[in-house]
Amino acid sequence: MNNTALRSWVEIPENSDFPIQNLPFGIFKTTGTEPRPGVALGNMVIDLSVLAENSFFDVAEIPDPGVFFESTLNPFIALGRPAWKKVRQILQELFSESSEAIKGNAELTDAILIPMDNCEMLLPVEIPDYTDFYSSLEHATNVGIMFRGKDNALMPNWKHLPVGYHGRSGSIVVSGTDLHRPMGQTKADDADAPSYGPSKLMDFELEMGFIVGKETELGEVVSTENARDHIFGMVLCNDWSARDIQKWEYVPLGPFLGKNFGTSISPWIVTLEALEEFRVDGPAQDPKPLSYMKNPAKSTFDIQLEVLIQPEGKNESIICRSNFKHLYWSIDQQLAHQTVNGCNVRVGDMYASGTISGPTEDSYGSMLELSWRGSKTIKLQDGEERKFLKDNDTVILRGYCEKDGQRIGFGEVSGKLLPAKQ
Ligand code: CA
Repeated sequence: MNNTALRSWVEIPENSDFPIQNLPFGIFKTTGTEPRPGVALGNMVIDLSVLAENSFFDVAEIPDPGVFFESTLNPFIALGRPAWKKVRQILQELFSESSEAIKGNAELTDAILIPMDNCEMLLPVEIPDYTDFYSSLEHATNVGIMFRGKDNALMPNWKHLPVGYHGRSGSIVVSGTDLHRPMGQTKADDADAPSYGPSKLMDFELEMGFIVGKETELGEVVSTENARDHIFGMVLCNDWSARDIQKWEYVPLGPFLGKNFGTSISPWIVTLEALEEFRVDGPAQDPKPLSYMKNPAKSTFDIQLEVLIQPEGKNESIICRSNFKHLYWSIDQQLAHQTVNGCNVRVGDMYASGTISGPTEDSYGSMLELSWRGSKTIKLQDGEERKFLKDNDTVILRGYCEKDGQRIGFGEVSGKLLPAKQ
């Protein structure tokens, strides 16, 4: 559990996502320097390579401090949980109010603490594989009603396993990366034949993803009880979706080009250690899952989520407020199901939750649902309104946990939808 009384000598702005209890990991660079691992603290980035140079990580749990000079977090993550916990402990000691080890040395402080505004954030991990689940009962029901009618909304398998598909890790991008509206094949309900052109029904999906921290071998099965040993941390994820392309292509093998042109993630990976005290039980599961899918207690997290749209040159408007805890299937169950057939997982793999919709109309995690397939108008500030995304709209996802005056946040993932490249 986090020590909520711990305070840092580094100034932490009120309501910061990054107090000393959080310490999320990312990859950053500054002008003229190489990408390297950092940790967010308030409005600063802790340069782990400088700490390593100054021998702060010369401990048994970190056999190779060279990992703090790499351009991805994979080598560090591969060292395993003892190393993650040790780095967290060392940082909490060095940056706590009572420590003089760095604070007393102005030159060292300047080298170690870099203003976040001066940092460019990069993709934190090289992602070998990406699976996207479909784990929100509310989202699956809403989309099912729209695509197949009320009586066939949930497929017979849905409450027995976390439905998912393999996505494209190569098109996962970090927050701040703009994407073009995809071109593709669509067919309107009243058209005789499909046509080719820019997607007309561009959408976001409010998701979160977990990053694998410990690999398995082919044939190895991860139980729900052991799943947490294999998870490093979590990020926010916008799984951009072209609904018209999706609708025409998805039968019978599932999502394809309507999804894989871009998936955006937040740059800071928040560790499970930082999230531990925000654990809650997920929704009751009926029917009871099969034995290999038994859900451990407190298998999910109370993470408040919001989505904002910012039209070009205009103010941002909140269009959705949801919560990670609404998800029917937990990350423990997702990983257990992913590996039940012996499929291996690798360090850096990302497993996304699927759209996180809540029970109320203002908690739906996609424009498809918020506009109910274009039948309703979503009102924004400045007199703007939307049914789906327009060119040059920026979509921003934010998320944070808050309890007893403590806030552990994820920062944000944002991206602009550029016009199609024709
Ligand atoms: Ca998705």
